[in-house]
Amino acid sequence: MNQDIKTLCKMLEKSVSPFHAVEAAAEQLKKSGYEEIFLDKEWKLQNGKGYYLKAYGSTLIGFTIGEERRKGDMLRMEAAHTDWPCLKIKPLPEKPGSYALLNVEVYGGPVLNTWLDRPLSVAGRVAVRSKKVFEPEVRLVDFKRPVCVIPNLAIHMNRKVNEGVELNRQVDMLPLFGGKQDDNWFMKALAKELSVKPEDILDYELNLYNTDKAEPAGLEEDMLCAPRIDNITSVQACVTGLIDGKRKDGINLIALFDNEEVGSKTKQGGDSSLLTLVLEKLYLSLGESREEYLNAVAGGMLLSVDVAHAIHPNHPEKCDITNQIYLNEGVALKQSGTQRYATDCEAVAIVEQLCRKNKISYKKFANRSDIPGGSTLGSLASSHLPMKTVDMGVPILAMHSARETMGVKDQENLCRLMRAFFS
Ligand SMILES: [Zn+2]
Repeated sequence: MNQDIKTLCKMLEKSVSPFHAVEAAAEQLKKSGYEEIFLDKEWKLQNGKGYYLKAYGSTLIGFTIGEERRKGDMLRMEAAHTDWPCLKIKPLPEKPGSYALLNVEVYGGPVLNTWLDRPLSVAGRVAVRSKKVFEPEVRLVDFKRPVCVIPNLAIHMNRKVNEGVELNRQVDMLPLFGGKQDDNWFMKALAKELSVKPEDILDYELNLYNTDKAEPAGLEEDMLCAPRIDNITSVQACVTGLIDGKRKDGINLIALFDNEEVGSKTKQGGDSSLLTLVLEKLYLSLGESREEYLNAVAGGMLLSVDVAHAIHPNHPEKCDITNQIYLNEGVALKQSGTQRYATDCEAVAIVEQLCRKNKISYKKFANRSDIPGGSTLGSLASSHLPMKTVDMGVPILAMHSARETMGVKDQENLCRLMRAFFS
């Protein structure tokens, strides 16, 4: 297994919530000598160094300042999202008077039936009572072991199951944690995980996750099956690109945003002014003027990285009639005339030249005209930061399933492209 795939498998395993994905990305940057800085503090930045900041726990921005950086050097950025479609636990979660069932809501657009009959766990963050009212203690939690399951109805109780079943989000998706329990059983279990008293827990953001590990598949093991391929493949490729980027001039930056699956319009999402604020602060901290910052944005370039749809083996008719991509054919450069993907021929041409120069496989991708794909970060982020932007990513099968499938070589090509852009 290639090193980039090994790194990806570890990252998939660690990224059990957006908070954990950010923590795992920060850990890699820290190991590579990056220094943590904070949004609300003064920055003292130096050429030749790397920095990262966490915003609200689930978004991370990291950057390097070239040793020989000069005013007017090109700003290069890569962005991805840290969240994925899942089930989130509501407040007052225990359903009274039955099995140990929890009340959950659907986050984003998962393929609901893929969450049934598989071992699931719980992870996220919890706010605990503290001495300072304005600074509650926030802790990450991961139950790590399979603690629940959402059972299907037996075929005998639904004879028409193979004709297609509509799952009700409130009725059919409640996870089962075991037999009948006392009141407050979940809050007690959560408190135990955190070694606190149940009454000390003030609030939480918790999601269910598939506990499966990433597994190679196929005769030649040229595929990888795993939960969260969308979009941890891109998160890891951005982190790898930043750490391995060899540029001595200019600024390389990665932005790993939360909330893409629900439209990105949050304080830590891609459709916010977060990145704009961080960039302005970065340039001002380096002693540049606001005009010089505005020049950097105008001359900058963004790669927006998110998965694409590979042609489906049993449903090739769902793909565009000329723009189709198979697994392991390379990085998909996603284009859309309606700008669901940021489409800019000058920017695409730059990426193509980079790929050709470094022998990186790529293929252009577009959706069928009557089947629009999901939108991504690229168009949203570039409307806040008007710069040349390209949407790209690895082509995958079963997007938004609890377990997705990708081609191993595509990740290798993506990582090489992310490095080349930052070199
Ligand atoms: Zn995605």
